[in-house]
Amino acid sequence: MNAGPLASPSPGLRPRARPAPSGTRHRSNPYHRKIDRPSACPGNRFRGFNRFRRGRIEINFLPYPVRYEHATSLPALQQNHRQSQDRGDRLSSDEHVQERYPQTGEMPGMWHPAHRYRPEGGEMRIDELSSTAFAKAMEADPIVFLPLGACEAHGPHLPLGTDTFQPEETVTQVAKRVGGLVAPTINYGQHSSTLNMPGTISLTFDTLRSLVKDILESLHRNKVHKVVVLTGHFGSVHRIAIKLACEHATQHLGMKVMMLSDYQLALHLEKEICQGLEDGHGGLLETSRIMDIRPDLVAKERSHGEFVDSGYLIVSDPERCFPKGFSGDAGLASEEKGRRINTYIVDTLTELVRANFEG
Ligand SMILES: [Zn+2]
Repeated sequence: MNAGPLASPSPGLRPRARPAPSGTRHRSNPYHRKIDRPSACPGNRFRGFNRFRRGRIEINFLPYPVRYEHATSLPALQQNHRQSQDRGDRLSSDEHVQERYPQTGEMPGMWHPAHRYRPEGGEMRIDELSSTAFAKAMEADPIVFLPLGACEAHGPHLPLGTDTFQPEETVTQVAKRVGGLVAPTINYGQHSSTLNMPGTISLTFDTLRSLVKDILESLHRNKVHKVVVLTGHFGSVHRIAIKLACEHATQHLGMKVMMLSDYQLALHLEKEICQGLEDGHGGLLETSRIMDIRPDLVAKERSHGEFVDSGYLIVSDPERCFPKGFSGDAGLASEEKGRRINTYIVDTLTELVRANFEG
């Protein structure tokens, strides 16, 4: 889906000098080339300056293309950069997005640098507003979205931030539609079955409940009355901790709070997408969604993982229920399926939010 614009860059951008080396994980993310692509200029000691032709360097890891001409040393580069900025050579983030993605005019995924820094995005993310701008935004009594992510093993084919990217993308899209604000993401959750797997970083139940409770109280002090808490991680203990914090906010602070997991909405499409196949953690649904949101982070080689029921035993090695670290047929995942699921989730959550807060 993103291959079109990249395959035929507009005249302003040079075509790729050569295909990305095999095994690269960031092929479709132009800003991550510096990780995988060695410098095209032998002897160039500055990482990221990956093209050097005819006295011209293009730096691609910034959220906008920067081109220097006839620069051969770092001070010369810095001087050129200042001059380039003075001349207004730098493309704005918006122009860059348009150039790279002319078909949609949108950068896929929320966490892309161009998303984070483009001007209109700043209106929506609380952490990009000034205190004054935030106070002004609060005059409209907006709905505030609080995404909860996780750093959790999701099998060998998905990034640890899988449960972060999904709710972030969802709340970004829904907030745009309903004119809401997005609070900074909580990037950690409580984990049980994947606790001993490499890369899983877990909070305890009490910490998570206190964290969400404190943030909701603080939002309340900031005159926020309507909150949507969306968690990407679907663990039962994790959700109970969040729910208790939300109940405190509704019962003691008089706030109106919705709390759910986007995975709950994804499950509405399980029958259609999975066609009767068993699916679960890091499986077909989640893999497809990440392929739509962050295709650069999904491994090309994907297999089938089983879930092994422990029969109600409380065990010290709960990871035994995921011998491969995930469950479901990730090999059947596709960007198209992910787009279908993500669109459904955004549409459904928008309707729910409107019914709850605007109806
Ligand atoms: Zn997940």
